[in-house]
Amino acid sequence: MSELPLPPASRQLGTSGLTVSPIAWGMWRLAENGRSAADAAKLVHAALDAGITFLDTADIYGFNGSGGFGDAEALLGEVLAAEPGLRSRMVLATKGGIMPPLPYDQSADYLRKAIDASLTRLGTDTVELWQVHRPDILAHPQEVARVLDDAVAAGKIRTLGVSNFTVHQTAALNQFLGHKLVSTQPEISPLRIDCFENGELDQAMMLGLTPLAWSPLGGGRLAKPENARDHAICAALDKVASEQGVSRSVAAYAWLMAHPAGIIPIIGSQQVERIAEGAAALKVRWTRTDWYAVLVAARGVPLP
Ligand code: NAP
Repeated sequence: MSELPLPPASRQLGTSGLTVSPIAWGMWRLAENGRSAADAAKLVHAALDAGITFLDTADIYGFNGSGGFGDAEALLGEVLAAEPGLRSRMVLATKGGIMPPLPYDQSADYLRKAIDASLTRLGTDTVELWQVHRPDILAHPQEVARVLDDAVAAGKIRTLGVSNFTVHQTAALNQFLGHKLVSTQPEISPLRIDCFENGELDQAMMLGLTPLAWSPLGGGRLAKPENARDHAICAALDKVASEQGVSRSVAAYAWLMAHPAGIIPIIGSQQVERIAEGAAALKVRWTRTDWYAVLVAARGVPLP
């Protein structure tokens, strides 16, 4: 049975000179439940100590429908202020461009302020990756590109990425950018396989973008399958998980990492043990047969 290659111990972020861990940790849920800076620091340490040094946040993380905008960044800022040495151990990614209650805003004025506000909350002069969180249909990509290129030139941002962009939206923004995109962040998981066939991952390979997979466990649904399709996917993952002595979650991360685009799953757990466990995905080997068995379960119909 032909085996797929194991993921590398580190990856290059797109065509940039930045090296990142092949798994990331996400802080969408960091500011939930009144988490203290001391407890947040434990999670940051769990990730870094497991070799997961690529950390993803966003200005909107913490927003609960009425308030909390910026809280996840601010909490990480507190962690970094208390222990400044942590900053150099991580590659820090954030995002902006969603301003509730106005859904998306990538006008030049808004974006400039959003980038500066993120840096202030994080207590850092620069972030390694800044991503447009969701496309603003009303912003011309040329205008967005100008603001982002200026921020790179000013040293506020080292590299640029997009999230939840269509293939054409990515191409349009990239066309106008002087500092080309290095990453894209779609939802990808065994439960959400659109990217494998809608051209997004093909485009990532063509442009040299690193795909970051958000909600790699379907927001936790892989742990609590809800319907027959979910159960079939879990069974296909569990076969490999039990053969290789890892959890279903770890098998799911490894399944994403086996794709040739070099997908980086963003672990969403805010529990020390589950974050640390993610590193085991580097040792899980997929065969072509087992990999396709998960895909077929997710499609719900056989391959043609
Ligand atoms: P996920 O890994 O799919 O789901 C994590 C959730 O599943 C957590 O609530 C976790 O709870 C739960 N969970 C249940 N059983 C688990 C297990 N055995 N192992 C691990 N987790 C388990 O990821 P996500 O949180 O939805 O998203 C991950 C990251 O993607 C976010 O932090 C963010 O950085 C990014 N994201 C980006 C976008 C975007 O639009 N760009 C959207 C959503 C997310 P516990 O915390 O209790 O473990």
